[in-house]
Amino acid sequence: MELYYKSTRNSDLKVSASKAILTGLAPDGGLFVPERIPALALSIEELAAMDYQETACALMQKFFTDFTEEELRSCVEKAYDEKFDTEEIAPLAKADGNYYLELFHGATIAFKDMALSILPHLMTVAARKNHADKEIVILTATSGDTGKAAMAGFADVEGTRIIVFYPRDGVSKVQKLQMVTQKGRNVDVAAIRGNFDQAQSGVKALFEDREFAEELAAHGYQFSSANSINIGRLVPQIVYYVYAYARLVKYGEICPGDLVNVVVPTGNFGNILAAYYAKQMGLPLGRLICASNENKVLYDFFRTGTYDKNREFVLTTSPSMDILISSNLERLLYLAAGEDAAGTAERMRKLQVSGRYEITAAMKERLADFDAGYADERETAEEIRRLYEKTGYVIDPHTAVASHVCREYQKRTGDGRPCVIASTASPYKFAGSVLSAIDPAFGAKDEMELLADMPSVSGRETPMAIREIREAEVLHKTECDPEDMKECVKRFLGM
Ligand SMILES: *Cc1c(COP(=O)(O)O)cnc(C)c1O
Repeated sequence: MELYYKSTRNSDLKVSASKAILTGLAPDGGLFVPERIPALALSIEELAAMDYQETACALMQKFFTDFTEEELRSCVEKAYDEKFDTEEIAPLAKADGNYYLELFHGATIAFKDMALSILPHLMTVAARKNHADKEIVILTATSGDTGKAAMAGFADVEGTRIIVFYPRDGVSKVQKLQMVTQKGRNVDVAAIRGNFDQAQSGVKALFEDREFAEELAAHGYQFSSANSINIGRLVPQIVYYVYAYARLVKYGEICPGDLVNVVVPTGNFGNILAAYYAKQMGLPLGRLICASNENKVLYDFFRTGTYDKNREFVLTTSPSMDILISSNLERLLYLAAGEDAAGTAERMRKLQVSGRYEITAAMKERLADFDAGYADERETAEEIRRLYEKTGYVIDPHTAVASHVCREYQKRTGDGRPCVIASTASPYKFAGSVLSAIDPAFGAKDEMELLADMPSVSGRETPMAIREIREAEVLHKTECDPEDMKECVKRFLGM
């Protein structure tokens, strides 16, 4: 049966999966959501016998119904190959009684690779299906990891261009170097003199700018998005939750049907939303625990039912979660409101004009699957050190936020179910914060120097992503103010 996609702000608008992937954002500014969430319809035993690629094919077929099996298999094969440094693609590591789902074994060593290594392939097939005659311009705002993963994924992909905006002072040294050294004929990147929310709002405004869309079309261009507002990113993220659950069964850690909690270090709410979709499909998940850093707008939202971004923006050691406007929450709100598109549009309007909105008591009740917590900077560093001293396992600051929140949740509730913690970045990507948390003596060294200490401390080999930036040439030096993003895009496109 064909599955269509609707906008969270207008239920009358209905498009195919490929069209939703190709356009990224709905024309009314809403996010595309499937008109129903398909059932898993596979036994855990069947899933336990599948490898990552087979799991990905089986799940994506349920969501992307206008793609043929052949097309999806080809996308999956191109995405999940030797770019990943382990055949398991997303291995589980057990430490201190919890399971760390390592989502950082791809080309750019953060979890964004899980979806961004397949999105360009889905996009090319989608363009062909919809007879798109224009060059697709992927416009992306990044808090550090999406940008590089998108550039790596789209570099030199026929028929596409990629433009990335990142906050100049809001990313780690490794993240920045990864972006400014990216090769590819079709790649451009600019540092914004502002924070991530400004970059993201700027990108959204360009998407919604009708006049600009016409101007682009006249030059043979059409925008799409590689941010997690694109449904083509969300669906591939469901795969690893299903895969992780099936692996726990296969390894004899749990019995089929046992409930497993999931803890996710959260920024734009894409990763945890994928876990929610997995649960809606029928995967036996218990609590979905949303972990925030000091920008704890989501923690406050789940506690009080009020979303309020009017607060100080804090730069933390987990920069990919330094976000006050969590885009994907819109998809959850829509579901919690019983698919009320008008209500969702109204809340998003309020968010835009006053920076806050409230949900009803009934909606709050429908969010009972979620729990939330946060870790401040001290707690984050402390968790890295604690886990290292107890087990030798080294985690990055984003994962540490989740790990701290997981333990606090377990203490607070006494819930003894197994917990899967989404481990979203390699410790190599944030070597400075990680090593100085483990031993303050490391604090005296430069971040690039510290990378040499990582193999012995972490027991992991230096990943390719780190080896290649050491000598790479800086290719991108553009900086711009948030108000000038449109001009910047025009310049990149030669308009
Ligand atoms: C993007 C990112 C996150 C946040 O994920 P969302 O899907 O935006 O909630 C967490 N950790 C790392 C390392 C990331 O790159």
